[in-house]
Amino acid sequence: MDDERKRALIDHELTHCTVEDSVFKTRGHDVEEFHSIIQRYGTWSNTLVKAKDAMERAEQLYLNDLADGVIKALDVSSDRKVQLVMKSFT
Ligand SMILES: [Zn+2]
Repeated sequence: MDDERKRALIDHELTHCTVEDSVFKTRGHDVEEFHSIIQRYGTWSNTLVKAKDAMERAEQLYLNDLADGVIKALDVSSDRKVQLVMKSFT
């Protein structure tokens, strides 16, 4: 398991913890559904719509980070390195 997955697992488990009226409690998941139901009916509930929106936002953040990394690499590179990067896309 890589560091990012470990971080996600720890964050997941800590998200089960909550405080209500000064009492420590645990809470269930926001989303629970069968893959087969999603395949047959899509995002049929508000909970699934929220989950889909969250996944799309996470994907967009990942793509933004990826684009920032490419831009940063190009900014610090020499002309030769830029040529190599461009060649790798062709
Ligand atoms: Zn859990």
